[in-house]
Amino acid sequence: MRTFEFRHAASVNDAIESAASGARYYAGGTNLLDLMKNGVEKPDSLVDIGRLGLRSISATPSGGVLIESGATNSAVANHPLIRAQYPVLSQAILSGATTQLRNMATVGGNLMQRTRCPYFMDTVFDHCNKRKPGSGCAALGGFNREHALFGASAACVAVHPSDMAVALTMLDATVHVMGPDGPRSIAIADFFVLPGHHPHRENALRPAELITGVELPRSVFGSSSWYLKVRDRHSYAFALVSVAAGLQIEDGVIRAAAMALGGVAAKPWRVHEAERSLIGEPADEESYRYAADLLMTGAEPLSENGFKVQLGVNSVVRALTVAASRHDQRA
Ligand code: SF4
Repeated sequence: MRTFEFRHAASVNDAIESAASGARYYAGGTNLLDLMKNGVEKPDSLVDIGRLGLRSISATPSGGVLIESGATNSAVANHPLIRAQYPVLSQAILSGATTQLRNMATVGGNLMQRTRCPYFMDTVFDHCNKRKPGSGCAALGGFNREHALFGASAACVAVHPSDMAVALTMLDATVHVMGPDGPRSIAIADFFVLPGHHPHRENALRPAELITGVELPRSVFGSSSWYLKVRDRHSYAFALVSVAAGLQIEDGVIRAAAMALGGVAAKPWRVHEAERSLIGEPADEESYRYAADLLMTGAEPLSENGFKVQLGVNSVVRALTVAASRHDQRA
């Protein structure tokens, strides 16, 4: 058995000091412990941040909501503010994992979870640049039906597994972090990084930085939004394609739109041109299909995942249709 040190942080600064000395942050442990059990992660030291508080969910003066990073996925999904103002986030979270996992998993940990590429998750495979930099990418010539359509590289074609991050991206969230050099904020669009030549680097965090919260701006979409997740089985599976979509509709005309795709890239995928194409257009299938085609333009399928292109188009149309129908119900 491999041994490691485990200690509880007494404060945020104490946690950061530990991390700066090489410890890994430990919160819900729902992904990290799995990876430690199968030998993908081998930390010598863990610092538990679960007793730091950081669990509040509160309204901000500007009409948004601040979610502290230690809030559990269940707490966020079921919070009255989230259900009322950001139902798409609640839907996204509830589409993932199981109740037991959501009760343990935290917002910060959800953003930090690793890909479920099977070649990454199983150390029996030698060729995985993300796990062993420079070793190659077994997925390129192997099983890749669940892998990326956008933003991949010759070094890695994995996708990010989070549903929550897709909704946060559609909602233009900001990630607040604290590190050895103090606090800073990162737009979620800049938080995840594409693999390029260094797929083991997955986000914009600097060494020892700790996610302290995620802030949502005031949303114009409310209930006129929807999270659609398409997967191989009805529950406890990662997305082949997912869509977070929001529409603001007045007199049948679209005034604002936002969409983000999951399951297609190493980060939630957003194309602002596709969203702009909807503005001023009637809220109908023709508009949605035009935007969906734009959103999927530039897809680069691998040997086994070409089906995800049409699946993506259909999913976007479906998500926008449902979002619009929820507006109609509200009117
Ligand atoms: Fe590893 Fe990425 Fe290739 Fe999967 S896609 S085998 S995670 S390098």
